[in-house]
Parts: sequence; C-alpha cells; structure tokens
Amino acid sequence: MREVHPRVYVLRMLRPEACRRLLAGIDERRALAPAVPPNSMHDHGALLGPLGFDDLLADLREHWIAPLAARLLPEFAGRGLDTHHGYLVEYAHDRDEELGFHVDDSEVTLNLCLGDRFEGAELTMLGLRCDLHRQSPVRREEMFEHVHEPGLAVLHAGRHRHRVEPIVRGSRRNLILWCRSSALRAAASGALTCTPWCDAR
Ligand SMILES: [Zn+2]
Repeated sequence: MREVHPRVYVLRMLRPEACRRLLAGIDERRALAPAVPPNSMHDHGALLGPLGFDDLLADLREHWIAPLAARLLPEFAGRGLDTHHGYLVEYAHDRDEELGFHVDDSEVTLNLCLGDRFEGAELTMLGLRCDLHRQSPVRREEMFEHVHEPGLAVLHAGRHRHRVEPIVRGSRRNLILWCRSSALRAAASGALTCTPWCDAR
C-alpha cells in the first residue's frame, strides 16, 4: 500500500482473474433481480447488499479495511468501522458518464476497480475538509488524479472531496465500500467547528 498523495492510499488488491470472477458473480445475480441504484448520485450501478454480497463486504470491512484504516486514517477509523454501504458503479457512455465534486457518507471509502477496458473516468481528489469548510476553494497542490486500473484500490477518508472525470471510451466498473463508525458518529458534538485534519486551515 502506498500513500500516493497526502492521505490517499493505493493498493494492489485483486489479481485480474479475481476481478473478472467478482464482476461475473455480480452480473449473474443482477440478471436474477432488478438492481437497486446505489444512491442519489448514480442512475446506474447496483447496491451489493440486496444481491447477497453483505457477508463478503462485512468480512472485507472488519478484517482488512478497519485494521488498515485504523493505522492510516486514525482520525476517522480509530474508533472502529462497524457498518458499511457497498455498491457497484458503472461509467460508460450509456451509463453514468461522470460524477461531480462531492464527499462520501462514510468515515473511510474503499474504491476498487474491477474492470473493464476504459479510457477516462479518472478519480480526482480535491482536499480533505471538515463539514464547515466543505465548499472552500481547492488549492492546486491538493488536486491529485488517480488513474484506475483493474485490481487497484484507493483508500481515502469520506470527507476527502473528489469527483470522477468524464469517461472517454469503454466501461469502468468499480466496487465502492463506504465504511462507517457508529462510535465516531455518536461522539460527534453536532457543533460545526473546524477539525485538526481539515486542510482549509
Ligand atoms: Zn475546516
């Protein structure tokens, strides 16, 4: 795992054959049940829980993401990551074509590219912000573009702002796992104050 940009980690997570098998498994189950779109930001893609992937995702969160994130992003994962929301996104000309500037409803997000062949649809990171400074301007040095590749995963804080560039050709499909900490959410005061990790400071 490499820190490719401050608080953005990339790891080679799956071999190409494993990516193909996972995608084939998702497609097989989607063929049997109408897919539920993952959230309001996507028209395409599918929630993975209803397709029967919750045990797999819980195992991934509990045994792999939570221990790694507790060390790498302790401000977000130090109190544990005990729930998740996992889904598949699909970028293509006849699917979602891009995704605007946003933050995730997660403490820590894992973004794993599964396939297929594509150009464009890069992930651009735009700076970590507290809730108070979410809309503050992006500084040039905060911008970091990650070029997806099947098998590579990005790990970042949910409050690390990002967007997806327009797809140029082909189709990119990624597994997104939003990992949440109920302990951290319960401890949040509700008051809108800046935090030590906010890059707007
Ligand atoms: Zn702030």
